[in-house]
Amino acid sequence: MRLSWKLGRFAGIDVFVHPTFLIVLLPGVFGGRDAIPLILALFGCVLLHEFGHALMARRFGIGTVDITLYPIGGVARLMRIPRAPGAEFLIAIAGPCVNFAIVAILAVLGFFSMDGEGLSLDQGSFLGQLATLNFGLGIFNLIPAFPMDGGRVLRAALSIGLGRTRATTIAARLGRILAVVFGVMAVFVTQSFLHLILAIFIFLASRNEELQVLGEERRRTFGETDQSIWYAPPGYRWVDRGGGLWQLSPVSTARGAQGSNRWM
Ligand SMILES: [Zn+2]
Repeated sequence: MRLSWKLGRFAGIDVFVHPTFLIVLLPGVFGGRDAIPLILALFGCVLLHEFGHALMARRFGIGTVDITLYPIGGVARLMRIPRAPGAEFLIAIAGPCVNFAIVAILAVLGFFSMDGEGLSLDQGSFLGQLATLNFGLGIFNLIPAFPMDGGRVLRAALSIGLGRTRATTIAARLGRILAVVFGVMAVFVTQSFLHLILAIFIFLASRNEELQVLGEERRRTFGETDQSIWYAPPGYRWVDRGGGLWQLSPVSTARGAQGSNRWM
């Protein structure tokens, strides 16, 4: 049974809202009742960000199981994570690019309607705030730490020269260092409980991504038996079906709900 509520189906992908999402709409949590339209618009942009990942993944033949909105952001569950660095790079970068595109569109709208009420990009105006938030969202997602897109961008870039295993280890390690710095800042500088929670979340996600990918790569390289000398195409591995029958199976399936299939 699934906990989330279905919002609809767009471009062939089911979109859900997790019940915990409602807490961002509680007046007072993020600046009172007046802020609710802005929060809804922002999460609309988060949804577009996720569609950026999903539609770019589709170009590489990778489907998306669903997209779910949580209070901390959106999560797109891809059928699998591409091993090819170019594909991973483009799918990862597509999300933040959507946010920067929204900023550009809002800037053009604001430029052509400087006299128009409500379309000005002044600080404090609705569209101005939405543009600022989108810019922040794009930059935040480019922080080179898993599970942010920046972590995947970095891993993809490093994979070209170092291979996926080594690249993942380095990217995950850098992510943990950033998480520790962020955590120390949360305690001593910003003194924000929310920032501390975020730092811990990034730290754990880095470790999770590393273990996940290292496990995957080990299975690909060595297999579960010595039969693994057979070549398995990217994203697949040989599975013993018994009676001498071997079958190619996807490394991670849609049902697998594994950490690294979830894109934020
Ligand atoms: Zn993203």
